[in-house]
Amino acid sequence: MTELNLILMGPPGAGKGTQAERLVDDFDLPYYATGDILRAERQNGSELGRKVEEYLQKGDLVPDELIIEEVVMPRIDSPEAEDGFLLDGFPRTQRQAEALDAAMGRLRRELTAVLSIEVPDEEIVRRLSGRRICTKKGHVYHVEFDPPKHEGFCDQDGSPLVQRDDDKPETVQHRLDVFHSQTKTLLPYYEKRGLLRSFDGTRPPEEVHGHIRATLATLKLEDEL
Ligand SMILES: [Zn+2]
Repeated sequence: MTELNLILMGPPGAGKGTQAERLVDDFDLPYYATGDILRAERQNGSELGRKVEEYLQKGDLVPDELIIEEVVMPRIDSPEAEDGFLLDGFPRTQRQAEALDAAMGRLRRELTAVLSIEVPDEEIVRRLSGRRICTKKGHVYHVEFDPPKHEGFCDQDGSPLVQRDDDKPETVQHRLDVFHSQTKTLLPYYEKRGLLRSFDGTRPPEEVHGHIRATLATLKLEDEL
């Protein structure tokens, strides 16, 4: 049985969530988004959640080892991930990637591919800064791609639409700058090892999905030959 041990990468707004949902369906893989997992642990007030909270309250980063040993490895080493997994949100730096490699090596497993969805910054800013959220129920619109019938008001409940602080162009650009500075050495690291597969994230989601699917099918085939 060929394993599909995958990492999904891309800037905020690249459509990773959509692609992840489809890949999970296609290949029956468990999906581990470390950001979502940590958020849930903190909300539950679990032991791990409390540890994470302590670091964040002190303004410190959550240590890589904690994420690897208590979030990533227990999941990768579980029966549901026997044939593979889709990891999102980790690693973000080369140091984290090396630590992940070492940890996976202990399980005698290795990555199959790193899927990178690439979208230019200006397109991301356009996508995210055009979002408008209704103040009553959180319905989502986009001034360019999905405008409401009456500008500035929700179609469903008539409440005013606002732009979230997170979606303001300068905030989006800052998030992108952070992303690029973190991943600068990560992509070359995976490229050197022949694991990197890049996809044009400016294409429609169905098309991006088709490309990723075809790439993974080829990888599985190569491995079986
Ligand atoms: Zn609404």
